[in-house]
Amino acid sequence: MTASYPNVQLLIANEWVDAASGKTIDVRNPATGQVIGTVAHAGIPDLDRALAAAQKGFEVWRDMSVYERVAVMRRAAGLLRERADSIARLLTQEQGKPLVEARGEVNAGAEIIEWFADEGRRVYGRIVPGRNVAAQQLVIKEPVGPVAAFTPWNFPVNQIVRKIGAALATGCSFLCKAPEETPAAPAALLRCFVDAGIPPGVVGLVFGNPAEISEYLIPHPVIRKVTFTGSTPVGKQLAALAGQHMKRVTMELGGHAPVIVAEDADVALAVKAAGAAKFRNAGQVCISPTRFLVHSSLVNEFSKAFTQHAQALKLGDGLAEGTTLGPLANPRRVTAMAKVVEDARQRGAEVLTGGAQVGEAGNFFAPTIISNLGTDSDLFNNEPFGPIAGIRAFDRLEEAIAEANRLPYGLAAYAFTKSFKNVQLLSSKVEAGMLWINQPATPSAELPFGGIKDSGYGTEGGPEAMEAYLNTKAVSVVGI
Ligand code: NAD
Repeated sequence: MTASYPNVQLLIANEWVDAASGKTIDVRNPATGQVIGTVAHAGIPDLDRALAAAQKGFEVWRDMSVYERVAVMRRAAGLLRERADSIARLLTQEQGKPLVEARGEVNAGAEIIEWFADEGRRVYGRIVPGRNVAAQQLVIKEPVGPVAAFTPWNFPVNQIVRKIGAALATGCSFLCKAPEETPAAPAALLRCFVDAGIPPGVVGLVFGNPAEISEYLIPHPVIRKVTFTGSTPVGKQLAALAGQHMKRVTMELGGHAPVIVAEDADVALAVKAAGAAKFRNAGQVCISPTRFLVHSSLVNEFSKAFTQHAQALKLGDGLAEGTTLGPLANPRRVTAMAKVVEDARQRGAEVLTGGAQVGEAGNFFAPTIISNLGTDSDLFNNEPFGPIAGIRAFDRLEEAIAEANRLPYGLAAYAFTKSFKNVQLLSSKVEAGMLWINQPATPSAELPFGGIKDSGYGTEGGPEAMEAYLNTKAVSVVGI
């Protein structure tokens, strides 16, 4: 079941290099706990070289025509698609998700790059009528400059693609601190851009100590824009640091998605759609549903069907045929899951299925459903980021909406109902950046992807995502 796995290097000015210090970090397969390779650990001298390259790369890329940039991006997307199978194998070995999910992530990545490349053709300015007839007033959009991106381990390819797509399409250069736990798929992704002929320094890749790197890159004068995906506490720290240095910021942070199953819902659809959303990537997804709020007339039927759905999942090594639920990405998540279940048990909740680690080796945790949870439970307040769902009954839709909005998070939300009146109420009252009704989550390049409240700000999809990488300049000219 093992496949080859590389020792991952840094990418600086289109060259793959070890850290100047020679330091590396071990990479483990979460399905076995075994070390499968290493990743270079950048120090300040490496970061200085990467920053200088990003500045040079920006000066070249910004001045290329949009048509040339689109061509490079489209070639990179093509290479990514060609290499999807081998990159997916790396991704599964380092991150754990089933191979079919990894392949889906890589192919979706190619599509996102293409979408952003084409969107780059449509970065238009405006001509604004002047008060003086001799004046011509232009509104010009310009790339903000070299971008520092910090991306997490749950979607090693997709989390970079959403950022690099918009950054490159607007003419920015892109220096990425990718996850040390899952470095090979990100490196393979950036290799596609290098092989597609991107000029040196336009893309760069570093790994190391996340705090040391962010504390160095964010204040650095070369960096003009910061984009981060990860937990809310870290996001707040980085946003504060960026604020001190007046850097533009996009923050895609934690969530705690509610699923409202209204009195008139199609229960089978709710179980299938929200169940798929819950257990995809073993629940390590910022838009993963956690609080299942079910009308009291349906709660028994829903709980039974949802339990059957969870029990039908096949837990195993993501590379093994038939696996539908992989291990958690790291041992920290297993510890966190056990804590959530322990808290629920102590409060008298009922564990309908799962609730424990599985096996001796690897980070396997059984898909878990817990019912009769109080709103003061750990699960109903803190993002579990794992394969655990909680169920609570409600009587009036307004109650469910109030519960959905109770937490400081506001990323994704789901609802199931057949009534147009309910859809209207939910659409206007649920506090979330994304709301999916009668369906699983279907994020795409063309739809905004982002949160409100403690889930962050900015969006990583749709034309709005491009704005985050653009400065607006007003130029007024009087003809003489
Ligand atoms: P964590 O908060 O330590 O790290 C989350 C991510 O941020 C990691 O990729 C990490 O490398 C990075 N990071 C941490 N400190 C940093 C710093 N000072 N500067 C720059 N980057 C930094 O938690 P974790 O144990 O790795 O992940 C668990 C939690 O992270 C989850 O509970 C979840 O809320 C959050 N998370 C969210 C997403 C998402 O898609 N929004 C993805 C991964 C993790």
